[in-house]
Order: sequence, then C-alpha cells, then structure tokens
Amino acid sequence: MPAPPTPKPLPTLPPRRPYAALPILWAILVLVLTLTPAQEMPITPVWELLSFDTAAHAGVFVVLAGLSWFSLSRQRRWPRLARHVGLVVVVGSTLFGGLIELLQHTMGLGRQGDWTDLLSDAIGAAVAVGVLTAWASWRARRTGYAAAMLWLTGAAAAMSATPAPAKAQDMPRVRRTIEKLAAPQMHGRGYVKDGDKKAAAYLRGRLKELKLEPLAPDYTQPFTLDVNTFPSKMDFRLEHGFVPGLGPKWRLQPGRDFIATANSGGGQLSGRFLRYLDSVTVSTPAGVEEFLRTSQFKRDGQYSCMVVLLDRYVQQPAHLPEAVRARLDSVAAVLRVVPKLTASVAATQSKQVQLEALPHPMLHRIGAPISSPAWTSTTAIDAQLRRNYQTQNLAAVIRGTAQPDSFLVVTAHYDHLGRMGKDVYFPGANDNASGVALLLELAAHYARPENRPACSVAFLLFGAEEAGLVGSRYFVAKPLVPLQRIKFLVNLDLLGTGEQGATVVNGRLLEAPYQRLVALNDAHRYLPQLAPRGRAANSDHFPFSEAGVPAFFLYTRGGSTAYHDVNDRPEALSLAGFAGAFGLVRDFLNGMGAAK
Ligand SMILES: [Zn+2]
Repeated sequence: MPAPPTPKPLPTLPPRRPYAALPILWAILVLVLTLTPAQEMPITPVWELLSFDTAAHAGVFVVLAGLSWFSLSRQRRWPRLARHVGLVVVVGSTLFGGLIELLQHTMGLGRQGDWTDLLSDAIGAAVAVGVLTAWASWRARRTGYAAAMLWLTGAAAAMSATPAPAKAQDMPRVRRTIEKLAAPQMHGRGYVKDGDKKAAAYLRGRLKELKLEPLAPDYTQPFTLDVNTFPSKMDFRLEHGFVPGLGPKWRLQPGRDFIATANSGGGQLSGRFLRYLDSVTVSTPAGVEEFLRTSQFKRDGQYSCMVVLLDRYVQQPAHLPEAVRARLDSVAAVLRVVPKLTASVAATQSKQVQLEALPHPMLHRIGAPISSPAWTSTTAIDAQLRRNYQTQNLAAVIRGTAQPDSFLVVTAHYDHLGRMGKDVYFPGANDNASGVALLLELAAHYARPENRPACSVAFLLFGAEEAGLVGSRYFVAKPLVPLQRIKFLVNLDLLGTGEQGATVVNGRLLEAPYQRLVALNDAHRYLPQLAPRGRAANSDHFPFSEAGVPAFFLYTRGGSTAYHDVNDRPEALSLAGFAGAFGLVRDFLNGMGAAK
C-alpha cells in the first residue's frame, strides 16, 4: 500500500499564515450581536448601530468579506479556493447573511428576518471583493481589473435595485419622528400659532408616504372645542426696595419658575399686592383677621391683590374658614407654591389670574413679613379663551386581505399643551410624540406587502387629548369605523421610557387578552415587566372602553420623570422599551387576527 503523499510547501511560495481566526471571530461576533434578543441590547446607541438597517448590514459584511478574502487568498491548502477567492467570498458571505436572517426569523427574538438585509449583505461583500481584487491586481501588476470592475458593477447595480428603506421599527427614524413633533416649529402642538395644525400636516405627510388609505377626506376628521390659551405675555417680577427701580429684582421664568394654571384668566397687577397665606395663618382667629384686613383693597369690584398660597393645606379650600375661602374666590390673583410644575389644558377661563410657582428662597423671604411694604411686583398674564377652535383627528386604514370589515385599531394622541407665553412651549416628547412614533412604526410594518394584515388595521391620531379626551370622545360619537366591528383597540401614550417595563390599563378587566400579552412578553422578553391596571379615564382608550370596545392603554415606566412640563424633551427619552413595545403590540395584533 503506497504511503499517502505528504504535502510539501511549494518552493516558489513560502508558507504564509492565513490568519483564519480573523474572519471566524468576526463572524462569531456578528452572530452573537444579531441573535441577541432586541431588548437585551445594552443601550440605545449601540442598538441603533446594530439594528442592521441597510448601511449597517453592508458595513458589517464589507469587513467580513474583506477578512475572509485576506484569509482565503493567503492559505495554500485549497488552491482552488484561493484561485476563485472573489466568488467564494461573495457566495459564502451571502449564505452566512441568509443564515442570520433565517435564525432571526425562526428564533423569535423580537428581531425580524428580512430580504433587503440579505441584499445589503451581498452588496457589502461584493464591494469588499471588488476593491480587494483591484488592489491585488495592482500589487501583482496583473490585469485582473476586469474582475474587480465586474464585482463593483454588480454591487452598484444591486444597490440601485434595493427598495428605498421602509423598514418597520427603524430606531433612527423613531428619534427623528419624536424630534420633529417636539420641535419649536410645532409650538407644543397646541392652540397657539396653529401648533395643532402644523403637527397634523406633518403627520398627514407621513400617512401619505406609507400610502395608507384615508378614513376621511385627507385623513382628517375636524371638530371644535373651547380652549384657554397663553399666547403672549407671561410676566411675573418681584422687586425689593422702598424706591422702585433701585432694589434687587427677580424675574420668574415662565415654564421654569412658574406657569399659569390651565384655566387662568389674564390680567395685570403691579405694586405691593402680594399677600401670604399658610396653615399657620389660618390656624388662629387673629391670623385670619389680619389676612382679611390686609387683602381688602378693592378695584373694579375685585380685591386687588395676589394671594400666595404657601402650602398644600391652604391650597385645599375645604380646610379654610368660610371667610377666607370667600376672599380667595374674589381676589384678583392666586399663586400656589407647588413642588412640581405640571401644566394642563382647560376649556374654561377663570376671572382670576391663577399661577403656580416652584418654591424659591426669594418667595419664602418675602413670605415671612406678611405686610412688608418693601416688596413690589408686576404681573402681566395674557390669557385668551378660544371658542369653537377647529382642530382635528387623523384616521387611516390598511384594509385586511381576508376580513376587511373586521378592525384592529391602534391609537395615539398627537396634541400636547401648546405654549406658555411667547418664549416657552411644551415639547411633549414622551407625551405623546413617542406614542405617535410607535403608531407610525406599526403602520410602516403593516404597510409592507409581506405583512399585509388579514383583518383591517386602523390607525387613529387624536387631537385635543390634553383638553379632556376631546378628539377621542368626538370619534366615538362620530366613528369612522363601526365601533362594533372593532375587535380590539390598543392606545399608545407615553412610550418613551421602559426601564421598568409597561403598564396596561384595562389589563385587570380584560383578563384573557391580558394573559395573551403576558405570555407573549414572557416568551420574547420584550419588556422587563408588565403590570395590569383597572379602568382609568387617563387617555384616549377610555371613551372606546366606555362604549364597549375592548381596549388596552399601554404606557412605559421608568426613566425620565418629566411630565407635562418643559423638560419633556426628546433627549430625555431613553426609548428603552420602544423596541420591546413594538414587538409586543405587533405580536398581540397578529394574534388577534392581523397575521395572515
Ligand atoms: Zn398623553
């Protein structure tokens, strides 16, 4: 039996190390990162980088193909592989990309397998091979340029054939949506400077882009409301000193130091008009008497002073003596010192100026001597009650392929609190640009031909939620889809955090669907925790629930605590639960009949 031939190094080619570990290690890294469940990605920026949209896919595969090319062309064991290194690398990388998509699809990781991703992988590999072939030809002074050009042309052709990226749940796009809605140009999406209409115009554009079918002309369901607004002047100044203009001044910043209460009236006051009231004052007859005596100056039928209510006790009228309560009702202005500024929207306007301010050393210093003449102040608040202001809901649908008359509904309100004077607006990033962004990502998902739902999925963007669920109440009174045809409704409001999971309003009432939600979350670990809640009139699901439509309201918990204030900005949002909430709602809707 002849001995097997021993492989000998070729004399003309000295042995070179192929460094096979490089491409293998890279491939392992890619596998680990792409097959990690979406919500386990440590922080958003890394997640975004590896969310594997087109560019990231191509980039990762340029590196993979480059390392493989390097390794294969150096090895001597399989000369045929080295000879056809370009073809081997491109085919091999593409197969590897296909394996990743297949695994993502089958392992249920909250990540989605995708054909455009695979195409990006192949493009990345072809680019790398094209460039390296050209480089090798140049080094060897051979004429291998034709092959290089072939690879690069192939890559370019594939790139131009790639459909415009319209991927669902694209995190950079989510950030852009939130930033756009929270931008100064939207004026807090309220009723000053047409903020609500500007936001609606932007969102109409997004619905059009997704080619959703309108449920009303131009997606728009108009309605009107009465709403109190603060369009311009918002001044509150204090000055210390007996000679006006010479003492130290303190100017409170609207939004930061103080806000107008939602139903505040407008008005101007200046002079020594501040009077203080705290629990100590009202606890003795002498204190009450002094308060009544020092606040009794009338002008135009009103007691012309601003009463500063220093603590919670005196802010609850039930605790106050009758005479004090009556005086408070008829003074020109009231200022409540509160631990946090939380703005809202009202449909009515009080005759009084009503302000809220954070505790401030200056306020307490002037608070001590009740009738000190040393303090003067100026207050000028412009409040305008707009009657029958026209705003709008937006409504779109993706028709079901099998049961078009049966609806699943996703809702989110896009309005917010508008402006607090001419320099300050409420961005409302978490409330509810985040929910709108999630609704648009779900719409993008179901708008893709391969995800066309079996039953219809409607997307409703409500106006005037902050004014008391006005838009959703109007929709329920004048429904654009028959309410009894709605199988389930998911309302999204406050989706910008999620470090502590999410709460499901109505989860305690609708046990079977809630258990399905929990099972999905347990299986895919979308969110750290789900907590059920009972009935609550705290967002747009409520008018629907009351009308008998089965509905959940989902909101995320943890992270930023900014709420109805000027700090609810996009940069404060971690979006920690966004991808998880997307996967959870999508799977839930699919289970309810949205999947083919
Ligand atoms: Zn909200």
